[in-house]
Amino acid sequence: GFPNLLSELSLGNCWLRNRIVSTGHHTYLADRVPGERLIAYHEARARGGAGLIVSEIVAVHGTAGFSRDLLTADAEGAVEAYRRLAGTCRRHGAALFAQLFHPGREILAAAGGMLPAAWAPSAVPNERFHIMPRPMPDALIRDIVAGFGRAAGRLAEAGLDGFEIVASHGYLPAQFLNPRVNLRDDAWGEGTLFLREVISAIRNAAPGRVLGLRISGAELDADGLTGEEVLAACTALAPALDYLSVTAGTSASLGGSVHITPPMGIEQGYAAPLAGAIRRATGLPVIAAGRIGQPQVAEAILARGDADLCGMTRALICDPELPRKTAAGRLDDIRACIGCNQACIGRAHKGLGISCIQHPETGRETAFAAPPAIARRKRLLVAGGGPAGMKAAAVAAMRGHAVMLCEGAAQLGGQALLAGRLPGRDEFGGIVGNLEREMAAAGVAVRRRTAVTPELVAAEAPDAVILATGALPFVPPRDGLDAPNVLTAWQVLEGARTGARVVVADWRCDWIGIGIAERLALAGSHVTLAVNGQMAGETLQLYARSHMVARLYRLGVEIRPHMRLFGADGNTVWLQNTLSDEAVTLEGIDTLVLSLGHRAEDGLAAALAGLGPELHMIGDCVAPRTAEEAVLEGLELGWRI
Ligand code: SF4
Repeated sequence: GFPNLLSELSLGNCWLRNRIVSTGHHTYLADRVPGERLIAYHEARARGGAGLIVSEIVAVHGTAGFSRDLLTADAEGAVEAYRRLAGTCRRHGAALFAQLFHPGREILAAAGGMLPAAWAPSAVPNERFHIMPRPMPDALIRDIVAGFGRAAGRLAEAGLDGFEIVASHGYLPAQFLNPRVNLRDDAWGEGTLFLREVISAIRNAAPGRVLGLRISGAELDADGLTGEEVLAACTALAPALDYLSVTAGTSASLGGSVHITPPMGIEQGYAAPLAGAIRRATGLPVIAAGRIGQPQVAEAILARGDADLCGMTRALICDPELPRKTAAGRLDDIRACIGCNQACIGRAHKGLGISCIQHPETGRETAFAAPPAIARRKRLLVAGGGPAGMKAAAVAAMRGHAVMLCEGAAQLGGQALLAGRLPGRDEFGGIVGNLEREMAAAGVAVRRRTAVTPELVAAEAPDAVILATGALPFVPPRDGLDAPNVLTAWQVLEGARTGARVVVADWRCDWIGIGIAERLALAGSHVTLAVNGQMAGETLQLYARSHMVARLYRLGVEIRPHMRLFGADGNTVWLQNTLSDEAVTLEGIDTLVLSLGHRAEDGLAAALAGLGPELHMIGDCVAPRTAEEAVLEGLELGWRI
């Protein structure tokens, strides 16, 4: 059972049905005010049983130009839009708070248009965005404080249950608290004054509403707030607050920002002790966060007294029904978040609406509201049990079609299975287990070790064949790449032996290239990662990249950017610098590993053409896809076929 997680709680004067929280996060589903997409997004989590939904940041002032599409409380129609959002959450039994926000110096370069001036307590830049802020004049500080009050007043009018001041991750209130960032010699140089003024402005404008503070229990960065500094600030401010929401890290550096959305490879619930320390010091109710992906992890955190509530944001992005399934004891049905960050924060960093690699319905709730009824029950044959094929099979069967999926290998999963063999990526295999359960629940018949052939299609005579046959590693036509000491990344993941000195040639250095380099370095090889691009992992989701590249540095992997593979001969590998055209010869190399992308495996399409059944192609066999794209394509086909 989950006696702690599923118990009620009163936070200030707000009653919550359980301890499961969707914490504030940027969705890119809104345009200055909540619209249909954002409301539908939160509605899915409220309907699924979350106790508290904290809606994303609301800019409190004109100088808070953090990013594109930022919500503001004074935009036209904001009160009505928030009223609809709050009413929708309440109708499904969830309370709604909003985050009140000013970034200070943390202005994203992706803000769009001309970069706005960044304002901070003092002219101290961060090392991530490289923007030099201007020191705030006293009048501006007072105006921003008033802005917090104005925003709270407008949102209280809209019927929100409470507010949260964002003092986490190095944003403006944290900049005031940090003696290495706040160098002022006026009254604002005293760290907590700004927050005390903000709290009193909000209390005056929105009396009776719940008020909390979101803060990093430690910013985990050389210049960031330490655990002791945060504890002292929380203790000083606690008497004026109703709760604290404790996270970790800072936006101010690449290393510290990993903790904003900690990727797989970081232990589940790792930041909860920070929440526990603050809870014990202040006596206030505390929300813990940081990779709390499973109800069992959340229950343990609550049971040992580290928190009163758990932020399970990505868990709810991945499975909005998690609270209901937990209450019903259907734990095996929960689609567990794997911490890949690819479609949630990964899409947000590109300015795209939030989604989930495993649950592409997220962020697309209005498009995938109710499955369309089928005109006729078709017999569908799916060729290939990778993520695209499995998702198409599950969705089509859920709608009522008779679906059989055939996979040539002994195990389902395709490339997702291989990805799970990379260091720190073992949770990636969770996608496979989750999709297998979705297929089983929908009644898909699965045949393993069964390749789809024209004979099989003739024997089964399906109405349609869905081709999801995936891709194969690409080996370029270069000299010497057919030698036995040249391996593909797939062969290494399948267990092929490598030597003491290895070159990994990587065309864009994503999960596979970095992961292979790490795996071989961990096994004791000297590894050179030759990247045909700017730097290791430039195409990876930002927070995952920093974490993974940090591990390569620690293992002594030699990273060589701008390197094109020219060929190989015995123990020599030839590279060429793509900027200077200079030839680079590496000698004494035992193994060359190729991670140079994939080519579509589409031979079956030609073999089946003209046989009768309608043919659909999805996933890598159309063109190389990310797992996110493959699963989305499976959903879309399963939805319309
Ligand atoms: Fe979790 Fe990955 Fe989905 Fe994000 S995209 S919610 S990290 S499974």
